[in-house]
Amino acid sequence: MNKYMDAFMKTFPYEGLTYDDVTLVTQYADFLPDDTSLETKLTSRTKMKIPFMSAAMDTVTESAMAIAMALAGGIGCIHKNLEEDDQAAQVAKVKNYLNGLIATPICFHENDDISFLRSEKKRMGLKFNGFPVLDDKDRLVGMITSSDMRFAPMDAMKLRDVMQKAPITAAPNTTLKKAYDLMRAAKVGKLPLVDRQGHVVGLYSFTDVQRLIENRNPSYNCDDKFRLRVAASVSGGKGDLSRMEKLAAAGVDAVVVDSAHGHSKGIMDMTKYIVKNFPKVDVIAGNIATGEAAVALAKCGAHAVKVGIGPGSICTTRVVCGVGIPQLTAVYNAAKALRGSGVAVIADGGIKLSGDVPKALAAGADSVMLGSVLAGTEESPGEKIYSNGRQYVVYRGMGSMAALKNGKGSRARYFQDNEAEDDLVPQGIEGMVPYSGRVHSIMTQFCGGLKASLGYCGTKTIAELQERGKFYRVTAAGQREARPHDITITKEAPNYRA
Ligand code: 5GP
Repeated sequence: MNKYMDAFMKTFPYEGLTYDDVTLVTQYADFLPDDTSLETKLTSRTKMKIPFMSAAMDTVTESAMAIAMALAGGIGCIHKNLEEDDQAAQVAKVKNYLNGLIATPICFHENDDISFLRSEKKRMGLKFNGFPVLDDKDRLVGMITSSDMRFAPMDAMKLRDVMQKAPITAAPNTTLKKAYDLMRAAKVGKLPLVDRQGHVVGLYSFTDVQRLIENRNPSYNCDDKFRLRVAASVSGGKGDLSRMEKLAAAGVDAVVVDSAHGHSKGIMDMTKYIVKNFPKVDVIAGNIATGEAAVALAKCGAHAVKVGIGPGSICTTRVVCGVGIPQLTAVYNAAKALRGSGVAVIADGGIKLSGDVPKALAAGADSVMLGSVLAGTEESPGEKIYSNGRQYVVYRGMGSMAALKNGKGSRARYFQDNEAEDDLVPQGIEGMVPYSGRVHSIMTQFCGGLKASLGYCGTKTIAELQERGKFYRVTAAGQREARPHDITITKEAPNYRA
């Protein structure tokens, strides 16, 4: 519990503050920024290496973005303006990205000869060796290794006569770790997974398995099966029940029950339904902006809540509907209401520069969701365009007219499922952001900025920042002072844009 923060926020009982309204106060540090940890929780049950999630938007997160985010230690949330099968396929792509298991291994038949195998390898450009050999009923009868091929006396010999008979096999659901132990013990380079009928349903290759287990990159965000973690969004109500089934079958780690107004029956019912029926999947519910809403969603079983009504860069909810709470206050209210519950808080929208992130965390968020910051990257699905000799990437609100017209997910998010096209009322705009390179570079800048901030605040971890962070209120003059001023910028910095 951060007593300083409680006293500070009490001085603005009916005033909403946002990131630019405050600045963090420096405090004594007996460590260097490099000694800090950015580990945090995504939900009450799942940790993350860094506090960043990419937005569930059709111009921000599909599989390429989700893979890049998980490799950086965060997570991506695949948007729901995709058909159910497409969204599930994107999830599967992320889950299989690092997977040592080859789902459909290339096999040969015992009557094939060595020269056929060689020509097929050449035709398909295969650089690896070690193939399952099948009988005429497609049952595994042997393995052919590089040694078997190298030492075969004649190219005309049938695989049946040179293969290793009765190979070591394992059951279909063998885990990566179990496969690793088995292959080491048996000293085999390939481990076919075989079902009861003797059919090959997968293959582990020792080189891949060893790379994953022994050199496991500690910065990746992986599940306990060494697969990258990924989230996906679904709508409230009953419209997305089969979508949820498909996402779970594809291995989704967390779903975001996503709406512009999360403190509503449809979102709460769907949250309860998923918590009850998909106990392995983490449930994040939102979006909300009050403590009352946070508690209501936590009571439905949500493992995290997502806060943000109107702070987004592409968002017009505040001006179209006159609704929403400035983001710092909204995050603080939700986090304060959830203290002691373990339920995580995700601050969604309004992050412009890396300095906004420690402010969100000090206000009580456990992580932040990024839209515009990531929309300009190579990995975003937004269209890349040229304008005035410069490269840009299309970025649009999920509640923009174009997204509402094209996406069922967008219409559900803004409760306009059944509106005629002419009657749609957008709550977002369409635009473009400058091309900004790879997600890795953006995350390097954001993590570097956050580590430096932890150093300035004298807090070694995000939990400590939440506990001891202090704000000062900034005046309009203070805001001007905070940005570069009285100078013409001649060179763009990688972490600042005017
Ligand atoms: P950004 O990071 O660009 O400031 O904000 C991204 C967030 O804005 C998203 O994660 C989502 O919660 C919210 N958002 C996305 N599209 C729209 C929209 O069209 N209208 C509103 N009100 N919010 C949006």
